[in-house]
Amino acid sequence: NISPFENDTIYALSSGASKAGIAVIRISGPGCLEVYKCLCPEKPLLKPRYAAVRTLLEPGSINAAEANIVDSDSLVLYFPAPKTVTGEDVLELHIHGGSATVKAVLAAIAKCSPSGKIRYAEPGEFTKRSFLNGRLDLAQVESLGETLAAETEHQRRAAVRGSSGVLGKTYEGWREQLLLARGEIEALIDFSEDQHFDESPAELLTNVTRLVNDILNSIQMHKLGSQRSELLRNGIRIALLGPPNVGKSSLMNQIVGREASIVSAEAGTTRDIIEASLDIRGYLCSFADTAGIRTGESDKIYNLDQGLTSLIGTIEREGIRRARQKALDSDVVIVLASIERNASGGHCISYDRETLQLAAAAPHRLVAVNKTDIVDQESLKRLIEDFKTSALKHVEGFQDSEPLTLSCKAAAARVAGLADPGGVHTLIEKLVQSFSNLTSLPGDMQHLLGVTERQCQLLSECQRHLEDFIHETRLGGAPGEGEPDVVLAAEHLRLAANQLAAITGRGDSGDVEEVLGVIFEKFCVGK
Ligand code: GDP
Ligand code: ZN
Repeated sequence: NISPFENDTIYALSSGASKAGIAVIRISGPGCLEVYKCLCPEKPLLKPRYAAVRTLLEPGSINAAEANIVDSDSLVLYFPAPKTVTGEDVLELHIHGGSATVKAVLAAIAKCSPSGKIRYAEPGEFTKRSFLNGRLDLAQVESLGETLAAETEHQRRAAVRGSSGVLGKTYEGWREQLLLARGEIEALIDFSEDQHFDESPAELLTNVTRLVNDILNSIQMHKLGSQRSELLRNGIRIALLGPPNVGKSSLMNQIVGREASIVSAEAGTTRDIIEASLDIRGYLCSFADTAGIRTGESDKIYNLDQGLTSLIGTIEREGIRRARQKALDSDVVIVLASIERNASGGHCISYDRETLQLAAAAPHRLVAVNKTDIVDQESLKRLIEDFKTSALKHVEGFQDSEPLTLSCKAAAARVAGLADPGGVHTLIEKLVQSFSNLTSLPGDMQHLLGVTERQCQLLSECQRHLEDFIHETRLGGAPGEGEPDVVLAAEHLRLAANQLAAITGRGDSGDVEEVLGVIFEKFCVGK
């Protein structure tokens, strides 16, 4: 037991703070049995891991007279150390959920004052003790933190990936291999030539280099996993681009109204960017509805009947600049165009060529034509074909695109009898397909979604030292390059191993306390 809190017994409400039928209070530390005896005097000791029904009494009272009862029919469980969630003795009280009852039981526990100290737990303190007592490695603790913070289904799934301990074991394995290799290389240095080795120095270096390269390749995959899960954690950025009036705001309203729930929203002015965090089928997305992207040159709406015509007057430069930046920063870009009536009484498709070009840079892009309700099927078909041959075909990234057709108006009216009035549902399907592509990993690598940002940074550091090692041992290959410095090479292995130790919090990574501070900040009390 390396717990620096020594004899403190801690307690906290571990179930949610909102109203529920049952509340769970967890107590951890050497004073558990004393707390039990104090709340349930003259009751038999608890059989470990078995639930018992007990009446909890005011500390100091001698009988179960009504006045002395704090809570009746509580379920009480005792888990003796060390195979418990914290590695210490744990007592769980499942009591009635009302806030007055919770308050009274917590107050009663505080009065039990077992030998040593009893106090309310700090945020994350139960988990911290689990870590310090070797019940969880740091990677698992982090994953638990992510699980508690998860707001959407895919965030939850990614978080759970890290909880199995597989990642921690992998890094621990690499660390041991690197330290072993370092030891072998140092043995080469320390002993003279007449010493017999199984491998020649050249063989040994070749083998270690192979090991290092294998680990470097794996690190690459782990970093990819982290990047992909970062999309799940921080949200997939979607930009909705197109000239004014094509229906961007209407589309956003339809998406929010039908298929997504708002996590948070920040409204701007009409010409500004409106951002909303949405939960679309379990994916966290930050949605930006932008002002139409325009410059002096391309302030044009393509009119199938009249050719290129400049139609737009005043433009807010700042809004445009920001919209363009948004497009470049996005994971998915939706380019919206619309069918409009033109002066001669016909119809045309209003779109912005520059927007299409910008969108080509995004990892995923969709193009959709809105307001299909204002033309008949025949004309729609013709307009879409014309749009493809005269516009999409000329923009890289859209050559083979089949534009989606939308009618936000029909979607808003929820035309009866149509499964997908207005096509919004189909658009969402396409989006979710993109999300899945952006965040998926090969089947046997799904667990790499559990690699956190902190771990990714440490892996990058580790990678750097391993590359230094490779560089150092390669020296001497070319004339004028100097001899490989084996001492230095071995030191790079040690430094690389240290980064891995910092991931799991085991080994001599030094600033474990600092790491703990960062991780446990996120935790709430009772965990
Ligand atoms: P934004 O400037 O791109 O955000 O476009 P808005 O969403 O503000 O829509 C501009 C105008 O087009 C509004 O008057 C909408 O009512 C109208 N509009 C939007 N979607 C449709 C549609 O599917 N069909 C028709 N007929 N009008 C639409
Ligand atoms: Zn708008």
